[in-house]
Amino acid sequence: MAQLTNDCFAFSGPPIPLDDIVTLLGDRLVAVEGTETVSLSGADGRVLAADVNAPMSLPPFTNSAVDGYAVRHGDLSPDQENVFSVAGRVQAGQTLDVGLSPAEAIRIFTGAAMPAGADTVYMQEDTRIDGMGRVVLPMGLKQGANVRPVGEDITNGKSVLGAGHRMRPQDVAVLGALGFTQAVVRRRVRVGVLSTGNEIVEPGEVRAATQLFDSNRLMLKAMLGRLGCEVTDLGLLRDDPAAIAAALKAAAASLDLILTSGGVSTGEADYVRDAVETVGTLVFWRVAIKPGRPVAMGVIEGIPFIGLPGNPAASFVTFVTIVRPALQLLGGTPAQMPIPIPAQATFSYSKKAGRREYVRANLTRHKDGTLAVAKFRREGAGLLSSLIETDGFVVLGEDILSVEPGQTVKFMPYSSLF
Ligand code: AMP
Ligand code: MG
Repeated sequence: MAQLTNDCFAFSGPPIPLDDIVTLLGDRLVAVEGTETVSLSGADGRVLAADVNAPMSLPPFTNSAVDGYAVRHGDLSPDQENVFSVAGRVQAGQTLDVGLSPAEAIRIFTGAAMPAGADTVYMQEDTRIDGMGRVVLPMGLKQGANVRPVGEDITNGKSVLGAGHRMRPQDVAVLGALGFTQAVVRRRVRVGVLSTGNEIVEPGEVRAATQLFDSNRLMLKAMLGRLGCEVTDLGLLRDDPAAIAAALKAAAASLDLILTSGGVSTGEADYVRDAVETVGTLVFWRVAIKPGRPVAMGVIEGIPFIGLPGNPAASFVTFVTIVRPALQLLGGTPAQMPIPIPAQATFSYSKKAGRREYVRANLTRHKDGTLAVAKFRREGAGLLSSLIETDGFVVLGEDILSVEPGQTVKFMPYSSLF
């Protein structure tokens, strides 16, 4: 990927609104180079590297949308029931050689090609068979009813999916329906994740009374995995700037982004900061969001570095708001947040102007079925329970000062983010 200049993330002044950060990322980060060809079975979640145009029409031939009887509409007398003899039968996948003579119907099934001359299909539920085996057709059916014309879904040559589109199951299905077996996608974004801290130990290892098991690295790796990244676990390092610096420098050689959690605020024991400064450059962003303390952003050997705060909820929110757009840009897709759901607050809350808050909350329903949103009972940035007991954020914009019960707020489910 393109090498970044050391000062590319420099930003000074008061806390930076999140939108400005995302704009800066959009200006600076370039999608990884390199594509690969993957089979459609493995294409879900991958980012298309080129536009796809339809090499054929869908449906490829005009066919029946229902089980019933195919007729020529012009044969029907408009002001009475019609009784037609059944001249043939065509099932899905078959070709019928018999043509349609006047006042004849063809027994047809869903997906079968329309017989030559037929242009309209009666649903079998609307017909009956008389004593002589003829089909009785009611009045009033429009020409072309229950017929799926060639190309009504997708016309040959149409642009179906664009470069930069992250494929979903239905996109993979369309490519298969168009006869493709493979897709050309961007390579996965390679991200390394490092934990630091003398107080942090690996789950399963011996924990001293004053230590915590590492939870952030597991969370970050899982989120990266869901966003389609190739994750490298850079492990857990002691608060030793030389060791951290060496690890970061080595990692930069093969990665597109380096993430750390903890050790990047302005305290004395924040060694990641010192380490980054010896092998690259570092800027602090005072991001105008809560939770989320300063986020460190830097460049190591031309590769972006993002240092997230150690508190789990702050780490989670800054990942979602800063790392996620960065990954989208590196991956070759536009940086986009999901559209939040409007719901009525069941709580009151007050906040400072000028910063955006991500209030952990649950979506529920009022008795009348309308959507309501309930705030988690506590707000600490260190509370893992606040993440597991909620299913999304209420996003309170910079201009909002308070929320009262009944007010419409924007709710962003976690499930829309990963
Ligand atoms: P820091 O950002 O380093 O000041 O850390 C803030 C808080 O997050 C402290 O209570 C740390 O112990 C905690 N913390 C830092 N790293 C991790 C981690 N990997 N897993 C869980 N908690 C962490
Ligand atoms: Mg620390």
